[in-house]
Amino acid sequence: MTAPDGSLTTLQARYGVAIPVDRGHELVIVNTHGTQAIDAWALNRANLNEFLSMEHTRSRLSRVIPRVGDTMVSNRRAPMLTLVEDTSPGVHDTLLCACNPEIYREHGCPEGHRSCEGNFHEALSQQGLALGCTPAPFNLFMNVAVGSHGEVLRAAPVSKPGDRLRFRAEMDVFVVLSACPQDVTPINGDDCTPRDIQYAVL
Ligand SMILES: [Zn+2]
Repeated sequence: MTAPDGSLTTLQARYGVAIPVDRGHELVIVNTHGTQAIDAWALNRANLNEFLSMEHTRSRLSRVIPRVGDTMVSNRRAPMLTLVEDTSPGVHDTLLCACNPEIYREHGCPEGHRSCEGNFHEALSQQGLALGCTPAPFNLFMNVAVGSHGEVLRAAPVSKPGDRLRFRAEMDVFVVLSACPQDVTPINGDDCTPRDIQYAVL
């Protein structure tokens, strides 16, 4: 858990965590090594069936990627998280699903390869919680673009070591973070090596 003074806690590469953030408080997420993609979710602590929704956020913002000052909304269109700081070039993804066991099976990885979907449910269960679905994540620092002919283009992150995002909670939430375990494609950097990240609640 985060220290009371707001000092940074490390989230181990390939793992997830569910972090309680009270309304009005802020969560800082640091890309410690620079090229780690982080799948992020937020859930209403009073009703887990209300969660941060990529499709509702794209509709609300009329943008594919939130910018500083934008408030992301839930599947009930209620304000959940406001992006208040982004020291990276602002390349994030709201289009792609979390990686899951089936993707790694398609890649030919051994059974049991960790995944963001598995991390999401594992992190909730560590809080004594469960959700019967996997919402679409906000993929922090993940470099996904749409080509001129509608292609989905994946590339290594353009963030740098120490780049950070800061979100303000607009309701009492659990934020779930997954340091993406993808080690087959360059989505976590050209060396295909998942790395630790850090976070703090302020
Ligand atoms: Zn992943």
